[in-house]
Amino acid sequence: MAEFDYDMFVIGIGSGGVRAARFAANFGAKVAAAEDRYMGGTCVNVGCIPKKLFVYASHFPHDFEDAAAYGWTVGEASFDWPTLRDNKDKEIGRLNGIYENMLGNAGVEVFKARATVVDPHTVDVGGKQVTAKYILIATGGWPSVPDIPGKEHAITSNEFFHIEKWPERAIVVGGGYIAVELTGVFHGLGTNVTQLYRGPHFLRGFDDDVRHHLADEMRKQKVDLRFNANIARIEKDGDELVADLEDGTQMRTDVILYATGRSPNSANIGLEAAGVELGKGGAVLVDEGFKTSVPSIYAIGDVIDRVQLTPVALEEGMVVANALFNEKAGAVDYTNIPTAVFSQPSIGTVGLTEAQARDKYGKVDIYMSDFKALKHTLTGRDERTLMKMIIHPETDAVLGVHMVGPEAGEIVQGIGIALKAGATKATFDATIGIHPTSAEEFVTMREKVPDEDRRAAE
Ligand code: NDP
Repeated sequence: MAEFDYDMFVIGIGSGGVRAARFAANFGAKVAAAEDRYMGGTCVNVGCIPKKLFVYASHFPHDFEDAAAYGWTVGEASFDWPTLRDNKDKEIGRLNGIYENMLGNAGVEVFKARATVVDPHTVDVGGKQVTAKYILIATGGWPSVPDIPGKEHAITSNEFFHIEKWPERAIVVGGGYIAVELTGVFHGLGTNVTQLYRGPHFLRGFDDDVRHHLADEMRKQKVDLRFNANIARIEKDGDELVADLEDGTQMRTDVILYATGRSPNSANIGLEAAGVELGKGGAVLVDEGFKTSVPSIYAIGDVIDRVQLTPVALEEGMVVANALFNEKAGAVDYTNIPTAVFSQPSIGTVGLTEAQARDKYGKVDIYMSDFKALKHTLTGRDERTLMKMIIHPETDAVLGVHMVGPEAGEIVQGIGIALKAGATKATFDATIGIHPTSAEEFVTMREKVPDEDRRAAE
């Protein structure tokens, strides 16, 4: 008789958990996985996928306006929120089924139940105890809202996707990925939205030119973007919400959405009792191979304190499956991870920001282009695209590439491959452009931004 019921028990059927479970089963392991909320986790249900669908939806008003310059007459357009929400729900339902089938087809036993760790080899799943040689924690993260009076009146990205009535007014608090993305969605879908960020400039950690360019573009679109602004308390007054700001002013609104970061989902799943060490904010501490302080328990994805991105969780799941069941040890390379923010316009970025590159290397060469895309020569829309490259002055290595503009994520994904392959500026220069595209700008930038100008800008 086998020593354990399973070779691996995965807690959490999100992006990382599915990847690890499926590949482990494909490598011949006996695998079970449990989920008590929704198949596919945050990304599929209340994250990347519905968000991107909503970003598409919110772009139509621009497209209708721009159509006129191209000779089109578009009738009066109106937006019906329940149609979008329900169509999105149908698609997510389909994806939930696909996730479940994918696991079933790989031979993974799926439990739709809450699972908790009992000891290093035992899991309680829906009241039944099972044993596993390895336990993988892939429980993801959860929106965290600061503890202010009236916080119960606010929503987070979790509720955003199911709003009952589309609001006329909204306040978004935060200055990271989710805040700028959902501010753009509110704005595009006709809500009078204000974004409040507590610091002097949002998107901390992104390249400064990118941060300023996006703020300018959002303001041109008449988004009410406020920095050094935060809510002190919220009260409900009939159907309205009243936000008292820290500067003493007051705002009335219909919805207040907090996008102030996400915390690891590590509480109440038996980790402390099993001896698993947790770090700051409850993040599960793991080594390079994603092993926790308990050798039979592993953890990946947003529940660990690394990079909260779906493709990163997939890679981490792959490393675990390979190491445990395919005799292939590996590690995740966290350098040069390309990423996009689906703001409007969108951001695509890979590698170091200018500030990080200067800190690390001292002097760097900067190439930058700020232009109006061909499409808008006819529409007259005052939207500009920014492209920027950061180059090591001696080795010619491309240290960072940043873009703000349409399809930035699509473009920078390809550039991410070039950076992984070690492309230098000379490699970019030797690449023939595709004309006419915005992307060709990345292979035609020849003029360095004079260093004195950069210093003056600091
Ligand atoms: P982020 O960490 O990106 O941003 C959190 C924001 O909230 C920051 O601007 C932060 O300010 C601010 N903040 C934190 N605490 C408070 C507070 N107490 N009061 C006011 N403001 C506060 O988190 P998100 O929630 O936007 O997203 C979580 C993660 O999910 C992202 O980091 C990203 O990794 C991932 N994600 C990726 C997406 C993509 O790939 N397109 C899309 C959405 C999410 P400060 O900078 O001052 O700390």
